[in-house]
Amino acid sequence: MTYLDHAATSPPRREVLEAVWPYLTQVTGNPSSAHEAGRAAKAGLDAARQAIADVLGARPGEVVLTAGGTEADNLAVTGIATAAPRGRHVVVSAIEHPAVLETARALRRSGFALDVVGVDADGVVDVEQLRALVRPDTTLVSVMYANNEIGTVQPLAEVSAVCRPLGVPLHTDAVQAAAHLPLDVDALGVDALSASAHKFGGLRGAGFLWVRSSVPLEPLLHGGGQERGRRSGTTDVASAVGTAVALHGAQAVRAAEAERLTALRERLVEGVLASVPGARLTGSRTRRLPGHASFCFAGVGGEAVLAELEGHGIACSSGSACSADSEDASHVLLATGLDADLARTAVRFTLGPTSTAEDVEAVLRVLPAAVRTAGGR
Ligand code: PLP
Repeated sequence: MTYLDHAATSPPRREVLEAVWPYLTQVTGNPSSAHEAGRAAKAGLDAARQAIADVLGARPGEVVLTAGGTEADNLAVTGIATAAPRGRHVVVSAIEHPAVLETARALRRSGFALDVVGVDADGVVDVEQLRALVRPDTTLVSVMYANNEIGTVQPLAEVSAVCRPLGVPLHTDAVQAAAHLPLDVDALGVDALSASAHKFGGLRGAGFLWVRSSVPLEPLLHGGGQERGRRSGTTDVASAVGTAVALHGAQAVRAAEAERLTALRERLVEGVLASVPGARLTGSRTRRLPGHASFCFAGVGGEAVLAELEGHGIACSSGSACSADSEDASHVLLATGLDADLARTAVRFTLGPTSTAEDVEAVLRVLPAAVRTAGGR
């Protein structure tokens, strides 16, 4: 199979499996236990937390381990917005993942004011509109680092320059960015950052939220007070170890991989635009994740194209895997100004560590006929 759906999930890195195994078979204590087995587990957990913090240029105590990106986003949005004493107003971008957008809408149902900042045709957030929306009682701004559907990378430094002087905490969903972009939180100018391990070669159902120690956080899960009271529940040490090893592995090869994947993506984008009539790239041509190529094929349903490609052994996605069941046109593509009919034709190819030039050629060989057949032409 030609797997070009790394934004949905990417296989665990080999070194992750090797690092995790001893924590499933030998070091199996509860890290909160006061005996030797517990201490050994805690040592592994502490090392993993430190390793994650090192990548972020942060302190280990600021890293809250979670069961994935969705939980990290929920904890960030609800936890920061509700803990802040200064008011009840949040601002999120129009192209956030549902893990942020729906959490913000849930806050609105509980009495918060919510403003949604728009994006331009490339999917880049409107920083001037954001400036106009932020108020003295704003408790959180959330703008994703890179978008899952169209790959657009946001100007976080500019967003931070709006929030910082006003003392408004800035959260970024870095779930798609973590495998591909720098994660130094001070350089980014953010106050909270979410990540999901399976997007960078860790295990599914694992992730973390980093929150600057000066930013109060109200927990979502109450209980035994693990994770410094910010996320109760027995910590999954093996997953945390896997997350740390995966993050280091991905970041160690980041620059070389970015160059390799950008070249493959460019070949794919140029090839598709040249060979498929009516094809259009969604998102920005340049401001995008290295291995991310997303298209609309006017008049041809995205799901039908996927089915044709699958018949040729190619696995990719229509927009985002998370909303693959939804009949609705993508809120991301609508926010960039596409009409609903065109938005329903979206097809996304996302490359990762296992992707090769041959994978790209395989797509270019079959896609023109696949689009023709799917469109009944
Ligand atoms: N945020 C973004 C941008 C994503 O792409 C995803 C998943 O695709 C998530 C959050 C949620 O992550 P998870 O499904 O691992 O909880």
